[in-house]
Amino acid sequence: MSATDDATRTRSQAAAQVTGPAPGAELDPAIAATLEELRSRLAALEAQAELATWRSELAAAALENVGDVIEITDADGLLQYVNPAFERLTGYAWEEAIGRTPASLLRSDQHDEAFFDALWAQLAAGRMWRGRLVSRAKTGELLHFESTVSPILDEDGRVLHMVAIKRDIGELMRAEAALRESEERFRRLAEASFEGVAIHERGRMVDVNSRLLAMFGYEADDVALVVGRRGMDLVAPEHHERVREHERRDGVGPVEVDGLRRDGSRFPIEICTRDVAIDGRRLRVTAVRDVSDRRRTEAELKEAEAKLRHEAAHHALTGLPNRGRFLEQVRAAIARQQTSGQLVAVLLLDLDRFKIVNESLGHAVGDKLLVDITRRIVGALGPRDMAAHLGGDEFAVVVEPVEDASDAQAIAERLQGDLAVPFTVGAHEVFTSASIGIALTGAGHDTAETLLRDAEAAMYRAKAMGKARHVVFDTTMHLRAVELLQLESDLRRALERGEFRLHYQPIVALDEGNIVGFEALLRWEHPERGLMAPGAFIPVAEETGLMVPIGQWVMREACRQVREWQETFPSDPPLMISVNLSGRQFAQQDLVQQITATLGETRLEARHLKLEMTESIIMDNAEFATALLSELRSLDLQLFMDDFGTGYSSLSYLHRFPTDSLKIDRSFVSTLGTPGRRSEIVRTIVHLARNLGMSVVAEGVETAAQLDDLRLMGCDYGQGYFFSRPIPSAQAADLLGERPRW
Ligand code: C2E
Ligand code: CA
Ligand code: CA
Repeated sequence: MSATDDATRTRSQAAAQVTGPAPGAELDPAIAATLEELRSRLAALEAQAELATWRSELAAAALENVGDVIEITDADGLLQYVNPAFERLTGYAWEEAIGRTPASLLRSDQHDEAFFDALWAQLAAGRMWRGRLVSRAKTGELLHFESTVSPILDEDGRVLHMVAIKRDIGELMRAEAALRESEERFRRLAEASFEGVAIHERGRMVDVNSRLLAMFGYEADDVALVVGRRGMDLVAPEHHERVREHERRDGVGPVEVDGLRRDGSRFPIEICTRDVAIDGRRLRVTAVRDVSDRRRTEAELKEAEAKLRHEAAHHALTGLPNRGRFLEQVRAAIARQQTSGQLVAVLLLDLDRFKIVNESLGHAVGDKLLVDITRRIVGALGPRDMAAHLGGDEFAVVVEPVEDASDAQAIAERLQGDLAVPFTVGAHEVFTSASIGIALTGAGHDTAETLLRDAEAAMYRAKAMGKARHVVFDTTMHLRAVELLQLESDLRRALERGEFRLHYQPIVALDEGNIVGFEALLRWEHPERGLMAPGAFIPVAEETGLMVPIGQWVMREACRQVREWQETFPSDPPLMISVNLSGRQFAQQDLVQQITATLGETRLEARHLKLEMTESIIMDNAEFATALLSELRSLDLQLFMDDFGTGYSSLSYLHRFPTDSLKIDRSFVSTLGTPGRRSEIVRTIVHLARNLGMSVVAEGVETAAQLDDLRLMGCDYGQGYFFSRPIPSAQAADLLGERPRW
């Protein structure tokens, strides 16, 4: 399915969900019930907000960033606080942990009662406890911690809290275990190398040592059973000639043969003979070594080597063939289809948000996700199709035979459909999508390499067109791929060369008709292409990670500018500034600290800054969004849900994620002024937002009729070309000076 289909589907779902009452009619009972539920959830959220505030205070104490797990419990041992390292290592979110005891949550089934009795006795006496704790992560995996637990006492010596600091020593434990194992192996080898000795005279054994007896399965007092027999009796018959050959060369270099035990069983031995003359007797001394272990080790080595070879050809993580192996397969497929008149298709799949997942949730989650994705990809393929992991978040599939592009597109659609179902990785629900490029044989000069290269160019095109889609290669794409690369390298230099600009679009209070603030909108003054709109470069900036430093620049510049205007054009309340946050920016670990620093630097009060983010950004990061949003709000700045109505658009998210305002997407506003269903949606959104205590900004107001409608509905703010286009700061200052009223 293409992204456009997707968008219309979610949009029509949204329409179904937000259909409201006809003008003037009683509130639909279903909506009334939803509202009631929303209100009660809101109360619950407020309680949670208190916890969140406490968490952010602790964040200030820097507990949040340490690698060690930190738990704080109350006097009864119930968890009151856990830090992010706790969440990362145990897989439990803090919300799941609060109110439980660490022992019950982390199923400390590796310790007995006496262990905990001793621990408690120590703490109750006001002393610190130190030791190793073994518990279980949410997945059931064992966790080893070197821990200290300290009681925090009040003036009367009563326990108020307990603070546990736990260092993950899992790695250490594994290393110790590995060491023990290799010591054991070494001991076995050393023992095995202890040699048996037999002394022969004229082909018969005249003496043997006890090691030799044991080796061949005789008791120590069975000497008589061996002495007097031919040495060859202890060697497998088919190896006799090998032994004789060895003796003829006067025992130079050991020879490996099969030994025969008393019970007839065989085992590998290495023998080495030497002729000696003692007291005029010509004796032959044979040293025998049991090399079973060495053979076993050799077999293991061979296996390890085979595995290494496999890994060189296959990606270690997913077990799929790598690029080299893939190209071989494509080559073979091309050769097979050369005469059949059928085609070979190569699909190149690149995950759209994988880098963000990796950066925000860590590599362990990323790796697990790749494994799960591999499973889905393989599951979506036919028995003859082959998938490969080209590295990072890139996969490829070769399909043969295909009639034409539509066969390959059908597979791409199936893959995208299967990948659209969210993944559960540990405690996280992860949404992912893939951009797919398709290339087919049939151009006449097909090689595996050109197919893969063309599929890659098509994949980049799919990304540039907004991701989560597939594109079939055509020759104009090389050019575009090159262009995109050029854009990326230009973008890298744009910041240092100071090529970015901010334009400002006024936001108007609909009751009074005056400007209350601006939205800062990014522009790029490209040296050759001129002024570029954000749509043309933000996707590339996101993909390459450049959006993070660019976003920091935007934040600083916007805050600085509005602070300046607040002084030149004082008003009550003072001017506000809206800044857009991208997915990458939202997923930054230190976003809160960054914003705090910028506000301090520019001396802008937090309550005059508004952050705009889309529902999809919030939903993509659902696992930490609630906490992050609460934390941002506790700074006293305001959160806007941007493009409302275009994303997930489930009203239930409105109370799950605390925001202050909704910005109704332009696509809804544009239908105002003409009667119809979509303008009803605007009315319902305004109404619901009211009830949830949120304000509403209408985006894309272009006509006086739209403005009138919005005013009648009681919409709070408007923004759009009707008032002003986004304009450079000097022009915005002029506009402020004119004090316009609409
Ligand atoms: P957005 O946040 O939805 O911004 C509103 C967009 O609608 C702007 O496009 C604005 O020029 C346009 N617009 C405003 N009024 C009207 C109207 O009446 N009619 C029409 N047809 N369009 C109107 P722009 O500036 O091209 O920005 C596009 C998007 O790029 C923004 O959508 C936002 O998602 C993103 N963006 C812009 N600046 C930044 C930034 O600094 N950081 C981030 N992360 N994203 C940004
Ligand atoms: Ca916006
Ligand atoms: Ca918007």
